[in-house]
Amino acid sequence: MSVEYEAVIGLEVHAHLKTRTKMFCRCALEYGAPENTHTCPVCLAHPGALPVPNERAIEHTIKLGLALGCEISEHAVFARKNYFYPDLPKGYQISQYEAPLCGRGVVAVPTADGDEVVGITRAHLEEDAAKTVHAGGATGRSVGADYSLVDFNRGGTPLLEIVTEPDLRSAEQADRFLRLLRQTIVELGVSDAEMEKGTLRADVNVSVRAHGEQGFRPRWELKNMNSFTFIRRGIEAAVREQVAAYERGETLVQSTYDYDPDTDRLTVHRSKEEADDYRYFPEPDLVPVEPPPELVERLRAQIGDLPAARIARIAAEVGHELAYELVATGNDARAALLAGEGVEWRAAANVAMNQAPFLPENAAALAQILRANVTRDALQASFAAAATRVISADDYLGQTAVSDESALEPAIDAVLAGNPQQVETYRGGKEGVLGFLVGQVMKETGGKADPKVVNRLLREKLRP
Ligand SMILES: [Zn+2]
Repeated sequence: MSVEYEAVIGLEVHAHLKTRTKMFCRCALEYGAPENTHTCPVCLAHPGALPVPNERAIEHTIKLGLALGCEISEHAVFARKNYFYPDLPKGYQISQYEAPLCGRGVVAVPTADGDEVVGITRAHLEEDAAKTVHAGGATGRSVGADYSLVDFNRGGTPLLEIVTEPDLRSAEQADRFLRLLRQTIVELGVSDAEMEKGTLRADVNVSVRAHGEQGFRPRWELKNMNSFTFIRRGIEAAVREQVAAYERGETLVQSTYDYDPDTDRLTVHRSKEEADDYRYFPEPDLVPVEPPPELVERLRAQIGDLPAARIARIAAEVGHELAYELVATGNDARAALLAGEGVEWRAAANVAMNQAPFLPENAAALAQILRANVTRDALQASFAAAATRVISADDYLGQTAVSDESALEPAIDAVLAGNPQQVETYRGGKEGVLGFLVGQVMKETGGKADPKVVNRLLREKLRP
């Protein structure tokens, strides 16, 4: 009898916070600066140097915690996480362990099948390690490298870690959640969250279990994933390999894995037996963080309309899938701008998604020009066409609505002559028939007449 398996996925997301200076010193944060030019006794761990927490980083963390529905701690404690590695000059990382700044929260991603609800375990503040570059060797990893270099510019960058509950059940769900989380982080202005620059990274925990099974089986941790595509493919590979192992009757152990996108395979990095004991203890050089309620409320007031809420709203216009893509790519405001100019929502969405350089002001201005000068059909046609190519007003201004009275008069006269019965009915007091006559004129002019002008001219001519 074959077993149906389901995936169990949890994420640990790291985002570099957008601050001018590092977490515990006044060194500037500058992406791409020459190596080891932004260092000082604090971030290089010279004896006697003392850390001072970055206020803005604390505010950013609280703000994101609020957006994720987290409880904000009244008493958060920095702790030392001890381990030895060349990118960590102190021999410990300052993090938060038992008392994180943000506690339990929840995020709901709206989909056509209802909300996908993802529990947030915690969100805490820590400092990033320095950057190690392994030179020589084939793999770019430490094993087989000729030598390694360390750039301490990154050491001490404020880092926000968001840990989810193991609530995700597929690679697509994980992808959907992660992209929405990224958009939320970006909109709050707390991080640039760019995977390609390393300012957003994720550790992905994956296990499988039989459908209906309670509890969890040993998980594999895919470390330091920095591409949405690789995260999706890494999860799929982990699920595939775990299911295959269980079907062969094997047992699995909790391990850390590296995902190789070239081979689409996972290789074991280290197993649980080798896992570190970090010997956490409260950082004696820092007092606990006790955010005053006024600060929390001030930050709460700064949070605008959140992406998940906007998806739910826009889904009513264009369906969940397109609404999600619009919001997750940060294009929904542009689409709304065009929709406000009378462009159909779906066409507006396509233009916003596909014509990024051309938006937002230009497209809205274009829609205004077209709306004032061409027929409604031409306006919609122009923006429907814009899904595949850049549009210009010139292409459509030829379809100008005819409002010149002398040009419309022959068509109106022809319609009145051709429909004597309706004319009589109107003059008999049934004004509702006017709509029919306007429609006939529109037909006569191939849809190019300005209906407002036709309406007025008909009324004048029908006056007894
Ligand atoms: Zn420094």
